[in-house]
Amino acid sequence: MSPACTHLDQIAISPPDEVAGCEDCMRSGDRWVHLRLCLTCGHVGCCDSSPNRHASAHAREAGHPIIRSAQPGETWCWCYEDKVGFEVEFGGSAEGAGESGG
Ligand SMILES: [Zn+2]
Ligand SMILES: [Zn+2]
Ligand SMILES: [Zn+2]
Repeated sequence: MSPACTHLDQIAISPPDEVAGCEDCMRSGDRWVHLRLCLTCGHVGCCDSSPNRHASAHAREAGHPIIRSAQPGETWCWCYEDKVGFEVEFGGSAEGAGESGG
């Protein structure tokens, strides 16, 4: 069941409801095609179909291999290291099982 990615422990944030755009492209006034969210630090970058490919550049430079699509309605994740796609569930539905007061 577990994805072939060995970096799941690097997921440190939950995706925000919406993102403004590629941080680096907005700074330089460039355009992007699709947005990718770094699941380690929350950096928003553009995909490999975009001219600047800021998402993969960030993954390489920061050592944060896992991104999630930041496109509305898309929930897939991707690991640049393992080159594998998968899905991660973030909180959301609270289905009973395992209630305990601490
Ligand atoms: Zn991985
Ligand atoms: Zn960009
Ligand atoms: Zn990052």
